[in-house]
Amino acid sequence: THFGFQTISESKKADKVAEVFSSVASSYDRMNDVLSAGIHRLWKDHFVRSLNPGRRPGGSPMSILDVAGGTGDIAFRMLDHATRINHDTETRITCADINADMLREGERRSLVDTPYGGTDRISFLVQDAETLDAIPDNSVDLYTISFGIRNVTNIPAALRSAHRVLKPGGVFACLEFSKVRPAMLDAIYQRYSFSVIPMLGQLVAGDRDSYQYLVESIKMFPSQEQFAKMVEDAGFMLPGKGFEELTFGVASVWKGVKP
Ligand code: SAM
Repeated sequence: THFGFQTISESKKADKVAEVFSSVASSYDRMNDVLSAGIHRLWKDHFVRSLNPGRRPGGSPMSILDVAGGTGDIAFRMLDHATRINHDTETRITCADINADMLREGERRSLVDTPYGGTDRISFLVQDAETLDAIPDNSVDLYTISFGIRNVTNIPAALRSAHRVLKPGGVFACLEFSKVRPAMLDAIYQRYSFSVIPMLGQLVAGDRDSYQYLVESIKMFPSQEQFAKMVEDAGFMLPGKGFEELTFGVASVWKGVKP
């Protein structure tokens, strides 16, 4: 597809994505730290803080859906923020992902590393972002997708499903790799990602191919402006220019409101 994996067909892209995430599930969290020198944690913290999840004074607990939630990184942060900052122990999150191996790792982490495992505050659900067929219309207050949308084969379908499941007034928020802006920095970044990342994938996780896929999928993803337009085309209202760049555009956050 135009925004997908250019050299292979759509069904092969879905197969490739399944294979990549099944094979990296157990090393996924460690590799994120290695590849980004821990910076992904700062981006995720910023993403969650900027959304301020949890009950507002006089309001109700939130129903949050974290799509492509993988091993639970965003879900745990959301519940931590709701609990500590908004003193809300009722807001619930569904961590949805197409890959059962990633979710299993997330569930294991929820039991070992967080107070939420085994409680009704978090649930893990196998779902395809394109359809979200177990999620009712107009049922979600906050939809998040972090480093997931670029792996989806039909991105407009995923955006339409996000719009369908959100309540009117509900918020769509996406954190994803994007285009590094000053051209000089981009040249350095391209060099790093295409040589160092597959090599580190081989060294740390014994898996060069999966990490080669990851850098290629980042390069294929649309620009900040193009993706903002896609979010708008799905029916969302975007504040300002619709996105915020982090670390020279290595990653960006897009937000939209369902009118
Ligand atoms: N959100 C987590 C994070 O920020 O660390 C995990 C991101 S991981 C790079 C990408 C995730 O997207 C994988 O767990 C993969 O299984 C999931 N994914 C890929 N295609 C999907 C789809 N069509 N529907 C739902 N999840 C999908």
